[in-house]
Amino acid sequence: MTAEHASSRLPQPPESSEYKTFSGRLDIRVMRSLVPFLWRDNGFELRARVVGAVALLILALLANVYVPLVYKGAVDALTPKGADILLVLPIALIVGYGLLRFTATASSEIRDALFAKVTQRAVRRVATRVFRHLHNLSLRYHLDRQTGGLSRAIERGMKGIEFTLAFMLFSIIPTILEIIVVCGILWVLYDFWFASVTFVTISTYIFFTLWVTEWRLHFRREMNARDQEANTRAIDSLLNFETVKYFGNEGHEGNRYDNAMSRYETAAVRNKTSLSLLNVGQAVIISGGLIAVMSMAGRGVVSGALTVGDFVLVMTYLIQLYTPLDFLGYVYREVKQSLTDMEVLFNLMQVEPEIQDRPGAGDLNIAGGEVAFENVSFGYNADRPILKDVSFRVPAGHKVAIVGPSGAGKSTISRLLFRFYDVDAGRITIDGQDVRDVTQDSLRRATGIVPQDTVLFNDTIHYNIAYGCPGAPEADIEAASKLAAIHDFIVSTPQGYGTRVGERGLKLSGGEKQRVAIARTMLKKPAILIFDEATSALDSHTEKEIQAALSQVARDHTTLVIAHRLSTVVDADEIIVLEDGRIVERGTHGGLLEKGGQYAAMWARQQEAAQLRDTLVQDLGDALATQELASEGLTDENLKKI
Ligand code: ATP
Repeated sequence: MTAEHASSRLPQPPESSEYKTFSGRLDIRVMRSLVPFLWRDNGFELRARVVGAVALLILALLANVYVPLVYKGAVDALTPKGADILLVLPIALIVGYGLLRFTATASSEIRDALFAKVTQRAVRRVATRVFRHLHNLSLRYHLDRQTGGLSRAIERGMKGIEFTLAFMLFSIIPTILEIIVVCGILWVLYDFWFASVTFVTISTYIFFTLWVTEWRLHFRREMNARDQEANTRAIDSLLNFETVKYFGNEGHEGNRYDNAMSRYETAAVRNKTSLSLLNVGQAVIISGGLIAVMSMAGRGVVSGALTVGDFVLVMTYLIQLYTPLDFLGYVYREVKQSLTDMEVLFNLMQVEPEIQDRPGAGDLNIAGGEVAFENVSFGYNADRPILKDVSFRVPAGHKVAIVGPSGAGKSTISRLLFRFYDVDAGRITIDGQDVRDVTQDSLRRATGIVPQDTVLFNDTIHYNIAYGCPGAPEADIEAASKLAAIHDFIVSTPQGYGTRVGERGLKLSGGEKQRVAIARTMLKKPAILIFDEATSALDSHTEKEIQAALSQVARDHTTLVIAHRLSTVVDADEIIVLEDGRIVERGTHGGLLEKGGQYAAMWARQQEAAQLRDTLVQDLGDALATQELASEGLTDENLKKI
């Protein structure tokens, strides 16, 4: 059936265990959630459009019901009743027939045009609401979700709203009304049997359709689930194309995708076969009904009780009902699917953000920006503690460095300071205010971070730097870029600040991305600064250049530096050595060296490596040294680990 081909372009429900599946009871709830968009939340113009659309719906319905009656009149007028009677062209009836048909079509079209704005406004409102809500959800939610699946769920939900509004109101309701009115007319004009045969045929058709559609639903779900699986695999694989190439795993990725596609193939074939079964069943019912009604009318004509016009009228009514009924089966399937999609969408809006502002939470008042961690313990999961009883203080305007092995929990400290998660025990304060007692918005406005992995928006360098303070004057953007030692590079490129950085900033080198991130944070001018390995991707010359600028900025800010290269934190007021989530040493650079503990050992190892590097650089020149270092495993990455 062509309708099914059309349906493949229409929204399909995301089928996965995380989504609730369709149930009749929820239908009503989902449909009810659309009502505010039709009336309650609308202004005068949109309400007037709704009223106009309903009036046109009634007009089209009346015209549609009247058309066969006029048709019958014309047929009767043209049927010779006796050999000697001259026929007169029933011009009024013919013109009336044409006008009625035109009225029916024109009213439907004008109704759709009038209603388009109501539908599109509803879609826009829901889309924006969901989008805002998703941004309000906490980090854990986003880390647990697959973005591809989420955006498909939103897209389908939007299409679902559009479809349901259009078809529920202007296809299902008018069709049901038309069936009732036509059966009534048949009863009044002829007898109970005409009306009841028509009614029984149509009811059987409807129930058969609903029953088979229910049965088919799991084939369709299976098909959609497999479709989603194949899609998510494709997106994940393409996003990681660099890794795929590094490992030469193109063949492996192709096979994985083909496996997913073969499951989709099986499910799609089952779906199509069951659809054909449904269509054949529908055809049997409708043909049976047509045969019954037409033989009853034919018998009436033969016996002289009915005219040829009556025969035509009955047939026209049935064909007229049959056409939208055929459509009804398709619409039912699609509306049902749309309702499931909408339910997923509305469920998304029901997800409570894990981190919420306390009722009546005020803004953070920054006096100097003193940060304090007091006996903080935290784990992402209850069964694996990451931070254990961590306490430290960064007095206003001071610089504290956190060093330690990979996975010790250093970046976790910055995530907690931003309140992406709440601590399990202890508390974090800024100028004496618990971060849980102030609004997240004010907390994040006061805090800036240059993260370990910089991800940029797929836009221009200018957009990405200006993101730190949307609407900032050009001079400030340039000043921030100069501070981050990226200005000269930017102006040396053909498009300058208008250079596009590619998806996730992949068209820039790691060091360039990092400097864009530094510039963006400098532009934000937060009271508290966090540098999480902010210069790890830079060569030592650029790093020194930036370090000087950063130290200057840090002088008037409270600064938390997370670093692997200890040479970058020697000037810190306090250095904290974190190991396995516990503070194992703390003090100034000099104090820690004197102590001769873990920090001193780390320092010695790094100095040794750096000296070896310097000697090699002198002896062999830059390029050779890099090769040599690499062959000894002394890359920057490995230096971090020492
Ligand atoms: P590195 O120097 O390598 O960046 P780090 O000290 O900054 O390490 P964190 O990023 O704080 O380490 O991570 C500490 C531990 O918490 C790691 O073992 C990591 O696997 C785990 N972890 C980090 N994020 C999550 C998360 N969202 N869910 C569960 N575990 C996590």
